[in-house]
Amino acid sequence: MAPLGRALVVALGLCVSVPAVAVASDSQDLFHNLPHQAVELSHQPPRPFQPWTRLRDAIIHKIWGPVLVSRSRSPHLPPHSSTTSTPSTLRARYGGDVVLRFKVKTAEEVRALAQAADTLYLDVWESAHDWVDIRMAKDVVEPLLGLLPTSLHNAHSPLMHDLAQTIFESYPAGSIAQKSSVPYNPHQGFTASLDRGASDGKELFFKDYQPLSVIVPWMRLMASLFPSHVQLINIGMSYEGRDIPALRIGVRQADDTEPCEPRHTILISAGSHAREWISTAATSYVAYSLITRYGRFPAVTKLIDKFDWVFIPTLNPDGYVYTWDHDRLWRKNRQQTSIRFCPGVDLDRTYGFQWDGDATRSNPCSESYAGDGPFEGVEAHRLALWAQNETQQNNVKFAAFVDLHSYSQEILYPYSYSCDESPPTLENLEELAIGLAKAIRLTHNQWYGVTSACEGSTIASMQSAKDLWPRMEPSGGSALDWFYHELEVKYAYQIKLRDTGSYGFLLPSNHILPTGQEMFNAALDLGKFLLSNKGIELADQDWKAEYFTSTSQIKPSAIQQEREGSEDPKDIVDKGYESDDLSTELRRKRRRK
Ligand SMILES: [Zn+2]
Repeated sequence: MAPLGRALVVALGLCVSVPAVAVASDSQDLFHNLPHQAVELSHQPPRPFQPWTRLRDAIIHKIWGPVLVSRSRSPHLPPHSSTTSTPSTLRARYGGDVVLRFKVKTAEEVRALAQAADTLYLDVWESAHDWVDIRMAKDVVEPLLGLLPTSLHNAHSPLMHDLAQTIFESYPAGSIAQKSSVPYNPHQGFTASLDRGASDGKELFFKDYQPLSVIVPWMRLMASLFPSHVQLINIGMSYEGRDIPALRIGVRQADDTEPCEPRHTILISAGSHAREWISTAATSYVAYSLITRYGRFPAVTKLIDKFDWVFIPTLNPDGYVYTWDHDRLWRKNRQQTSIRFCPGVDLDRTYGFQWDGDATRSNPCSESYAGDGPFEGVEAHRLALWAQNETQQNNVKFAAFVDLHSYSQEILYPYSYSCDESPPTLENLEELAIGLAKAIRLTHNQWYGVTSACEGSTIASMQSAKDLWPRMEPSGGSALDWFYHELEVKYAYQIKLRDTGSYGFLLPSNHILPTGQEMFNAALDLGKFLLSNKGIELADQDWKAEYFTSTSQIKPSAIQQEREGSEDPKDIVDKGYESDDLSTELRRKRRRK
């Protein structure tokens, strides 16, 4: 790791991931115009809470002071390389950090934490209900606590015992488990041997998280193996010039007698926040499961005949690559901002509906930086343009939009930007969301909360859910709100996947399959709901029966059992109802004959 990068992370004792990463990866760029930018950064508009400002300025001086001094004597530090990503470098980068969960009880505590996060550029991981998770350097904990209300001094605990080790373990097994002399090769571990329908292929691909250099060939493979119903499409180009790839799953029926009928499309996107790897993996899993079941499982076949499904595993490919090659905890995209050493726009704050970037406009170093104006975030703009073009030029009607994130296990519906506005289709949104949560729960007994995105990001009083407290971060300009309001997608959700804080963004890879299965079952429930909602399938009892058995095969579906009251839900929670064992399906068919 570049010495300068290490200096920034360790010497500071504060989690200022943005500048630290920028230096480590792009040290030559850093020196371009740096003095002016550094001055600009330390001259933010005056804030009312002066102790924060003084602490922040001291921290910034501590970070950038050595940079400015060393600039003249060492302007060409070696760039960070993925081939040097080893446990020792991870230890150097993250070993001094900790993720603390603060338990909050009063609005004053929330305001103080929000002030601290905003002023000190702290990395807020999540906030929900009565807690806030914040990543920071161990060295800054004490001075931070000194400026927080005394009630918070003993109201925090670390989420992970060892952040660097947890990061290390989130990479594919063996890929960086060697000593520093063995280069990390993100391309290793992938074999394009995904036999049609073979479970081994799935195990291989979904056993670990996969880098973009593996995901894209895998998507291409899916399209080439299943050309009858799978297309690899391109949503647009990222800031750094990468394609934003997507899988379109669907078929046109030969007996389609109403060509003017819009093609109802379900859009599932993921990865707008780069470090939320489980969203990318789960999206790929759902796509894979639909693709490989088409023609074999009646319910899935019906859903693909009736809808187009578009899956975008990595809306933010530049950021995703960056999390593999440079900084596992990178959140934003990678576009340049007005401050050169603070690149990146928060793609889920940059959409054009109720964009409230004024709060972050002056602070590109914020993890929630919304850009200088609506749709400045390149990849979000690409997605919006693509979606608009689909509806205006390609006779597409988006029946549902699901944006996968992590973590906290919540199903969120509009609006995100404000708790004061209720969506006009609130009852429908809640009805379906509760169904999705139930489908998820009956898979592996994971409980997902259901609420509006606004309330999900607002810490609410335990005594009264209506007594809403200040937010930790602004939440206007979200994809959720834009698709719901501007594109009039009736069923729009953001789902925050596993877990609830044991690992946060660093969810171990053995959660990929169960999380993917939960989302697959939720996707089936979504499709079934939409079909019924169109009023054309309710009378089709055979289809309804097949739908449930198609997901469980020999074992009756857990959902079906619960609805029929044939078994105590406590006894079936872990059975799941997802099985794509081809031999089991064949045995079942033989018995029917
Ligand atoms: Zn996210």
